[in-house]
Amino acid sequence: MNLLLFGAPGTGKGTQSAFFISHYKLFHISTGDLFRKALREKTPLGLKAQSYMDRGELVPDSVVIALIEQVLVDVKSRNGFILDGFPRTLAQAESLDSLLNNMGLKLDKVLYLNVPEEILIERIVGRRVAEKSGYVYHIKFNPPEKEGICDKSGEKLIHRNDDKEGVVTQRLKAYKEQTAPLIEYYREKNILFELDGCGSPKKVFSRIQSLM
Ligand code: AMP
Repeated sequence: MNLLLFGAPGTGKGTQSAFFISHYKLFHISTGDLFRKALREKTPLGLKAQSYMDRGELVPDSVVIALIEQVLVDVKSRNGFILDGFPRTLAQAESLDSLLNNMGLKLDKVLYLNVPEEILIERIVGRRVAEKSGYVYHIKFNPPEKEGICDKSGEKLIHRNDDKEGVVTQRLKAYKEQTAPLIEYYREKNILFELDGCGSPKKVFSRIQSLM
């Protein structure tokens, strides 16, 4: 099963991906995580992406597509994959289709998590993450047992720079202008499944499971 988790920043794609990994053992591909890792390691890719990420803008398509081309090479040997945060533009979606097609693969389902904008902002601004392991918390809705520390990995939780209020507005703008048009793209292909992304992460995951 090859899936795309689709939605605006803050809809819970990262949180739901963690459930997918443990339940379905899918290969998780998050371009945001890959860029953050590259940034921590100060690779040329990370340095190229940094200024766009800091401003809440999308990294140029040519950079993202070159990255995904490398990652997809590993996909064939896996038991399906879940894409999170990619594609985000029409050019990326079309490149993905042709890359998969060349590999004899296709996207089976696009799970579109729909959450109203006012809830998104509260979710993003309160989000805290364990950078290395990727576990995600929220200071109000899903706090760790010990403030500032990841329950599972023991890492110190951070507030991502681009989760701070000024940048969040720009990220939502980029989503509306460049990414939301993909809803129609996938609806026309008859692979779009829209879900209510409100409520607890477990509740949202059980809605997803009813579609699997
Ligand atoms: P995310 O964690 O998925 O919200 O991604 C964080 C940031 O990484 C975004 O705000 C973009 O700057 C960049 N990014 C991640 N994925 C993509 C993508 N598919 N296309 C362009 N930029 C991306």
